[in-house]
Amino acid sequence: MAIKTIIEPFKIKMVEPITMSTELERIDFLKKAHHNTFLLDSDQVIIDFLTDSGTSAMSASQWAGIIDGDESYAGSRSWKRMEKTVRELTGMNYVLPTHQGRAAERIIYSLLGGKGKTFISNTHFDTTRANIEFSGSNAIDIPIEEGKHPKLIHPFKGNMDVKKLEELILKYGSENIGAVILTITNNSGGGQPVSMQNAREVGEICHKYGVLYLQDMCRIAENSYFVKQREKAYENISYKAIAQEMMSFADGAVMSAKKDALVNMGGFLSLKDEKLANECKNLLIITEGFTTYGGLSGRDMEAIAIGLEEVFDADYLHYRIRSTAYLGNKLSEMGIPLMLPIGGHAVYIDAKEMYPHIPVDQYPGQTLAAELYLVGGIRSVEIGSVMFGKYDENKKLIPAEMELVRLAIPRRVYTQSHIEYVIEVFAEVQKRVKNSKGFKITYEPEFLRHFTAHFEPLK
Ligand SMILES: *Cc1c(COP(=O)(O)O)cnc(C)c1O
Repeated sequence: MAIKTIIEPFKIKMVEPITMSTELERIDFLKKAHHNTFLLDSDQVIIDFLTDSGTSAMSASQWAGIIDGDESYAGSRSWKRMEKTVRELTGMNYVLPTHQGRAAERIIYSLLGGKGKTFISNTHFDTTRANIEFSGSNAIDIPIEEGKHPKLIHPFKGNMDVKKLEELILKYGSENIGAVILTITNNSGGGQPVSMQNAREVGEICHKYGVLYLQDMCRIAENSYFVKQREKAYENISYKAIAQEMMSFADGAVMSAKKDALVNMGGFLSLKDEKLANECKNLLIITEGFTTYGGLSGRDMEAIAIGLEEVFDADYLHYRIRSTAYLGNKLSEMGIPLMLPIGGHAVYIDAKEMYPHIPVDQYPGQTLAAELYLVGGIRSVEIGSVMFGKYDENKKLIPAEMELVRLAIPRRVYTQSHIEYVIEVFAEVQKRVKNSKGFKITYEPEFLRHFTAHFEPLK
């Protein structure tokens, strides 16, 4: 068929104005923000690709649910609806509502963790690793080899290396493994999907050795899209049924509802085991709230329940994944070096390759982030040596493995013309590559420096 444009499968009922600006104004804004995109005000930004977390546009049904939310302290109707939806999706009987993903992580990992314990994942997301390490445990990442090479094409680069998994369980002893965590999709690994076969095999190994198997299901719907497209046996299975089958292998799941539940705040923990669930509920009550609301308002729970249904809509998922790929493929055709294949929620640009004349200790990723902002008001985030770099004893930079810039796409927020605009901005940024300069850091805090560091452009 000649008609190939994938249109947004929604109409716009309510609009949020974008504050437009000129390049001259942005030069000033960026200078005042010390050349750090995190320090910009949101109304100084035209297209905000900082994160896909909590930035989704809710639907008319979700907003209606917000009004309809039951704010009762105990036994809220909205809680019942959320609990039923999560139970049906995960097949797990015990559901604990939390204010966001990391609250669920803190509860479960502080219980399972502690000194001497080891956790194994395809790749631990930052908050996952932080909660595990904070408990005194050790976190080991074992993505498959293909997942470590940005240019290599593989259908499921988010998979866990199951051979290594078994070796590690034998090496540390099953009694010392806190849990095995499969992150679906693999966020830190570029939003790359995990196959059904891999999710099943991880379960078989965990259960052979009696190790707890958890899934981080933040982007389970986006992952289901890739399974249906790329795993032959699932081409005729619905997205929701794929997600249900994948989760059936696990003993528990954590979710940040700020991703695939299409809401701005929320999360949960779900478990099969009653005893473990009861221990978690004790912690939930101490730090989050009573078991029928956790850290959430009734209206939040109503919106999560609705979002978890909407996200499996075939037209939505098709639009979501294909529009991310559309941006990635266009940039790739223009010769912008990318991490391939394009993942579900973001496009990652290889800034080291794009700016070969800028050494890593002058932060080429920061250059691209600044250029995108100056030329088009696009906010992105550096994921390279600003974020992960360390210093040796001579204060010399130990660079990150890659110098990436991430364009994370909020769900249902931008239209095709916004994306076309972004592509044109890239063409302009590309023309300026030779004259673009690196940066030096003039101020940095001790931890998580990327959030608040100050930069100065080099001459
Ligand atoms: C966002 C995220 C989390 C943490 O969730 P928050 O809601 O931000 O606390 C955990 N795991 C993954 C894979 C995520 O993407």
